[in-house]
Amino acid sequence: MNAPVTPGLPAFVPPRRVLMGPGPSDVHPRVLAAMAQPTIGHLDPAFIGLMDTIKGLLQQTFRTSNTLTMPISGPGSAGMEACFANLLEPGDTIIVCDNGVFGGRMRAMSERLGAKVITVQDPWGRAVDPQKVEDALKAHPEASVLAFVHAETSTGALSDARTLAELARSHHTLSLVDAVTSLGGSQLEMDAWGIDAIYSGTQKCLSCPPGLSPVSFGPRAVEKLRARSTPVRSWFMDFGLVINYWGEGAKRAYHHTAPVNALYGLHEALVLLHEEGLECSWARHRDHHLSLARGLEALGLSYLVPEGERLPQLNAVRLPAGVDEERLRRRLLEEHDLEIGAGLGEYAGRIWRIGLMGQSCTSRHVALCLDALGKVLQR
Ligand SMILES: *Cc1c(COP(=O)(O)O)cnc(C)c1O
Repeated sequence: MNAPVTPGLPAFVPPRRVLMGPGPSDVHPRVLAAMAQPTIGHLDPAFIGLMDTIKGLLQQTFRTSNTLTMPISGPGSAGMEACFANLLEPGDTIIVCDNGVFGGRMRAMSERLGAKVITVQDPWGRAVDPQKVEDALKAHPEASVLAFVHAETSTGALSDARTLAELARSHHTLSLVDAVTSLGGSQLEMDAWGIDAIYSGTQKCLSCPPGLSPVSFGPRAVEKLRARSTPVRSWFMDFGLVINYWGEGAKRAYHHTAPVNALYGLHEALVLLHEEGLECSWARHRDHHLSLARGLEALGLSYLVPEGERLPQLNAVRLPAGVDEERLRRRLLEEHDLEIGAGLGEYAGRIWRIGLMGQSCTSRHVALCLDALGKVLQR
């Protein structure tokens, strides 16, 4: 008699890809190895030590001394919603700069939170215009928050975060900055530039798997949080509660169970970044962007964003007329294992978004991408 056979379900084996889209980016083997270590309790003293180390590394990465600096358990959009939910109360006025998908998302979140939204509109593919922001701040002295995206991943435009944060400060308005794609890839100085609140994500220039969102609140943002007359509408995202879990010292109150292994990964990714040096990482992103740009232009692809406003880690290029971009992108994936991004919104089908983020920003990536694009465009 044969023993009954219970066929095991096959394990999932992901294909080997080269990730050069708008995120996630390639993850370093050291980060993957760190995440495969044994899970420990989230209140284990060893884990609490790791939490403190991660907070310190995040402070260095944001260039801040803010105590309220921690990773939110959720992707970039969770950190984004957390910042808006903590800073805004119903009836507050917020000025939102909208020059792409993520500016639009900021507006939608603010509206859901019951805030009065003033929009500063700039065309997709352009940086936020500081003059328009100054005009809006002058016209709306009641505004308590100015929100803008530092690195607009949907179009590849880099805005002048320093100038915008200074404008907010000079009008006694808090600045709230989306640094999801800029952190680790472009110069960002939270304290020196006077940024009050910031959030980021792990899967762009930090080159971690997606799922965590580093945030930081400065003293003025904490003051606004403390002075709220209504509780934060989200229990999970209430920084007043979360900080008891992520706070200083060994005494931690259970709030939720942190994603233990994901935090091993974030730790290793931050260690890698600081081994290289933050400034070196910024320079690496700029240098490889310049060589990719030369190659793309040689292939006849032109940039959506004017020079001077370009984001090194996200290269948005217009497609030649008559090209079936979806088919070519599929071929890049199938024949070259290369992932690049499609256009969004009004640019769907009209641009490609080529990421050079974190571990995906090397001369090898630039060469591979140009070679593969050259081949699929030629046929
Ligand atoms: C990716 C991204 C987000 C959202 O992050 P998710 O991890 O996808 O939720 C927000 N803002 C910008 C600028 C981004 O690039």
